[in-house]
Amino acid sequence: MSDDPTIFEQIVAGDIPARIVYETDTVAAFLDANPLAPGHTLVVPKEAYERLDELPEDVAADVWAAVQELTPRIESAVDADASNVGVNNGSAAGQEVPHVHVHIVPRFEGDGGRPIHAVAG
Ligand code: 5GP
Repeated sequence: MSDDPTIFEQIVAGDIPARIVYETDTVAAFLDANPLAPGHTLVVPKEAYERLDELPEDVAADVWAAVQELTPRIESAVDADASNVGVNNGSAAGQEVPHVHVHIVPRFEGDGGRPIHAVAG
């Protein structure tokens, strides 16, 4: 695997601009550059791990704590009714950036979007 920093490491380092909405010592969250809905946010460990199973337990806990804290705040900020929260874990699942990231996609009643269980259908 390449040692080059991932796009998300470059965002965390401030080398690529992004709208950062949350930051701790271990986790950052920023708005997706190609949002599926207003408020679409990515939550990432600051250190790059490609797959979920590579995350140390404490980092995984920090990422999930951020997801739990941010999801209702994002829904409230964009007046959403619900959210899809998910991870594309591996290229066959659509993962494009090899740095674990949790998508928080706000959803609105009647928005016509698909639930996660329908994405491969
Ligand atoms: P994946 O398909 O890997 O789960 O999702 C990668 C996500 O990263 C996509 O939703 C894409 O829009 C987002 N993304 C890719 N490059 C950038 C970037 O440079 N800045 C931001 N903010 N998001 C990015």
